[in-house]
Amino acid sequence: MPDWSPLKDEDRIFKNLYGYHPWNLEAAKKRGAWNGTKDLVALGREKIVEIVKASGLRGRGGAGFPTGLKWSFMPQATPEKPSYLVVNADESEPGTCKDREIMRNDPHTFIEGCLLASVAMGAHNCYIYIRGEYRLEYKVMEGAIAEAYAAGLVGKNACGTGYDFDIAIHHGAGAYICGEETALLESLEGKKGQPRLKPPFPAMAGLYGCPTTVNNVESIAVTGEILRRGAEWFQGFGRENNSGTKLFCISGHVNKSCNVEEAMSIPLKELLERHCGGVRGGWDNLKAVIPGGSSVPLLPKDICDDVLMDFDALKEQKSGLGTAAVIVMDKSTDVIKAIARLSYFYKHESCGQCTPCREGTGWMWRVMDRLVRGEAEIEEIDSLIEVTKQIEGHTICALGDAAAWPIQGLVRHFRDEIEDRIKNRTRVAMSGAAAAE
Ligand code: SF4
Repeated sequence: MPDWSPLKDEDRIFKNLYGYHPWNLEAAKKRGAWNGTKDLVALGREKIVEIVKASGLRGRGGAGFPTGLKWSFMPQATPEKPSYLVVNADESEPGTCKDREIMRNDPHTFIEGCLLASVAMGAHNCYIYIRGEYRLEYKVMEGAIAEAYAAGLVGKNACGTGYDFDIAIHHGAGAYICGEETALLESLEGKKGQPRLKPPFPAMAGLYGCPTTVNNVESIAVTGEILRRGAEWFQGFGRENNSGTKLFCISGHVNKSCNVEEAMSIPLKELLERHCGGVRGGWDNLKAVIPGGSSVPLLPKDICDDVLMDFDALKEQKSGLGTAAVIVMDKSTDVIKAIARLSYFYKHESCGQCTPCREGTGWMWRVMDRLVRGEAEIEEIDSLIEVTKQIEGHTICALGDAAAWPIQGLVRHFRDEIEDRIKNRTRVAMSGAAAAE
């Protein structure tokens, strides 16, 4: 296990994560936002990309693709084909609530990042697509953008740099699938939010057929501080290929659920004990953890004992960092029922465009429901896994994978529990909306 030390307060990028102070421009400037932004814009496109690449920043929305590299794919804009930055604030992954806190409490750190990231891509227009349910966040962003325009920080000659930059927000309508980048672009264009076939990728043909980069809120919001403090500073947290600070959202059976910014690669156990008062009933009462939002497989306690919270460590365990939404389950949890509930969610949110996902998510949900109720047969466990394999990698977007992986994780780690349920014909009823199906 690498040396690891807790993040110091002076190294936190999000200085108002808990909303203890006002979000407005005056207060944000006192915390360091918009400090020297004119000089940062003057670094120019290539230099900004170079610094962000050197920082090792990987996308914070789930996929973990290197951010600087993604920006470098953007071609030079032309009058016919302007470039766009689109920020994905459609935060809907179960367990995830970090972008919400950034928009609520630190909107100027985020807006400054939008300007700097746009300069890095030669984009003069930025759209922020905000989840429909995020009404307060929409209001705050609306107010903060108005303040930034009034202060000349964005708009014509943004920050007195000679760079024209416009920024607008768009409110979604509550569909999980619009968090998929191309469905989001379709929705932004006023169409039905369904994912596009790729290629072409958005960097070549994105919004209105023009070069577009879609980034997560957190990826953009950390840009200003990386440029101010340097790539080496950001690289100093975490470990190779997994650098920086990271927002973790921790929920479930801990004593105190929270959002927290910590150094990447923090051991999971340390994260829960330092910031959440530990697992309810103590560490030995832990049963499993979903480490990165509902789309990644859960991990049983014995893996959780030593695992690090970063992209590569969790991938080695056949799971993922995803959105860093940590869902903790103690021994009172019916893991079969918990994963069945996720199956219901993915069935409900499938856009229905491609057959393996449309049919497969319904099929998987029906078997999971039968497993919960103790009505399935032992052979169905293997056929369930076979169906997940038929879906995984065979769909237009990643929702199909996201529906398949939690089930694979469940069978990988808790097969005995499923078999016992079947053998004993233990009947457990689903609850909530899933019960009505
Ligand atoms: Fe739609 Fe599912 Fe296909 Fe994605 S994988 S395009 S959500 S049907």
